[in-house]
Amino acid sequence: MLLKSLPPPASMVDMAQGYSLSFPGSPAAEYIKHRGLDSIAARMGLGYVAHPATGHEKQAGRLVIPYLRPAGGEHAVATIRFRCIAEECTKNPDGSWREDEEHEGHGKYQSLPGSRPMLYNTQALIQPSPYIGLSEGEFDGMAAELAGIPTPGVSGVSAWRDHFDPAFLGYERVFGFTDGDGPGEQFIAKLAERLPNLIPIYFDKKYDVCRFVKEFGPQALREKCGLS
Ligand SMILES: [Zn+2]
Repeated sequence: MLLKSLPPPASMVDMAQGYSLSFPGSPAAEYIKHRGLDSIAARMGLGYVAHPATGHEKQAGRLVIPYLRPAGGEHAVATIRFRCIAEECTKNPDGSWREDEEHEGHGKYQSLPGSRPMLYNTQALIQPSPYIGLSEGEFDGMAAELAGIPTPGVSGVSAWRDHFDPAFLGYERVFGFTDGDGPGEQFIAKLAERLPNLIPIYFDKKYDVCRFVKEFGPQALREKCGLS
């Protein structure tokens, strides 16, 4: 009997790399520019699902956020998250960006099946720095990075795990970035119980790190944190 060998399935890093090649000039790039994060997109390996890998068919047209892990000069990819950037969810009928996005009948973010909550941007944890940030959401972590504050993120309040705690102990200060809404305050309250070095950084209504940095600039975020 002859057995035909199938090509091995694409690795996570190959998939992320493929998606990042489709990013320049894509709707994802346009969206990231709108969020003020275009200058960090390449560093974070952001991508666009122009040609879905097997099993990713439902993610077509979405922004790709890889969870990069330092791996000796290269990057490994722990997981990939997808974010909806569909025009009907993010734009008004006249083509302008919506103030508040609406993702009806589907989640704004999608994780890979079976993936566990993980820290985003763990490279921040190996930067020599007396302080570190901690954000709820990947975009806020990226925006804080623009201000020179190494900032890992978690993908929501419920995504915190006990084993994340030790990574943040020992820093002089951990800036907990919250957008001041109900879930954001819960997030900070939960972290404050665990991290004695946590300093909550609150934003006015309608602002989060991303919007704040886009509107007032990276230096304003540093000043808000008491940094020069
Ligand atoms: Zn949507």
